[in-house]
Amino acid sequence: MTPPREAEAAEARAVELVREARIDLDAVRRNVSTIAERVHPAAVMVVVKADAYGHGAVPVAEAALRAGATWLGVADLAEAFALRDAGITAPVLAWLHDADAPFARAVERDVDLGISSLDQLESAARVAAEATTTANVHLKIDTGLSRNGVPPEQWQAVVQAAAAHERAGRIRVRGVFSHLANTSAETDAAQLASFERALAAASAAGLAPEVRHLASTAAALRLPEARFDLVRIGIGTYGVTPYGDGTTAADLGLTPAMTLRGRIIAVRRVEPGTGVSYDHTWHAPRATTLALVPLGYADGIPRQASGRGEVLLAGRRRPVVGRIAMDQFVVDVGEDAVAVGDPVVLFGDPASGAPSADDWAAAADTIGYEIVTRIGTRVVRTYEGRA
Ligand SMILES: *Cc1c(COP(=O)(O)O)cnc(C)c1O
Repeated sequence: MTPPREAEAAEARAVELVREARIDLDAVRRNVSTIAERVHPAAVMVVVKADAYGHGAVPVAEAALRAGATWLGVADLAEAFALRDAGITAPVLAWLHDADAPFARAVERDVDLGISSLDQLESAARVAAEATTTANVHLKIDTGLSRNGVPPEQWQAVVQAAAAHERAGRIRVRGVFSHLANTSAETDAAQLASFERALAAASAAGLAPEVRHLASTAAALRLPEARFDLVRIGIGTYGVTPYGDGTTAADLGLTPAMTLRGRIIAVRRVEPGTGVSYDHTWHAPRATTLALVPLGYADGIPRQASGRGEVLLAGRRRPVVGRIAMDQFVVDVGEDAVAVGDPVVLFGDPASGAPSADDWAAAADTIGYEIVTRIGTRVVRTYEGRA
């Protein structure tokens, strides 16, 4: 007889497997080392914001560091502290701060601060002075994305103030960076030129940043002149394409790290003309078999992909029919044999026959980034491969 503890664990696991996002850390490591080789001699920062794009920040960070990344990047300081809490000691840069962001704690925990204004620079210098230590900062110039970053007309004032703080030992300008709009070759070139001007001004002010960085995945792979000392790789880590031009992850030599899967929870045979799911947007054109997948928009499956997405079930890709609901959707399996409990893959590595997250993005008129980052909290993350 199975010991009760084990039976309970098996039951718990079976329940979990109704909705599972399986993360392949070997794929993460391969993707990072592939990119690291390609961008060499530039170094690699792996971006693990938003819980590593839904893949789990700590396991991904550990795998990435083992694969050759030397920096980690996040948006918020809370995300940086979570990495430190997990014992990760690699350099971490956080770049998106509100007015009350805990800079003192950042300095104490050795988190580098992305600096987008004179105010932020002054607070970093103030907390460092109070703690009689030095704050590591990366000054961000807005080269044309018009989000955060120091506007070019304020750059001179910021680099001069930073140089003064550096001479006083309060600040170390470890980096200068910017971010591209990925709009066209022309805007890339204009942003690159603006970045070069900002670097020249920083240097003229007496700053000598260790890392100059501009490129995220898209430019790191296609625009060698944007690599500088360091590239910030988010989406490529996860084996999802950064491009909207049809270039797949496989074309880039990258493997999707997340497989989203579940198990069929109901199967029914229906007559021709049967209406399916809310609003009956689909009627069976013939007698057919329908299988019910227990994931819906609450789990991040875009409702926009109703009638357009596909899943891998019983050895083939099968169409989603009718509306995707909060917790479930229906797929048409025709005359094939499918049973309750059969595994279904919503997306994964296309080499396995499954659709990719990028395929779901196309079906929902969005980008693969949004598909993987929006997987909901009911979906259990499990891991395979070596962190
Ligand atoms: C998210 C982000 C990145 C990573 O971009 P990918 O396209 O995912 O590689 C890099 N830099 C900044 C500033 C970001 O916000």
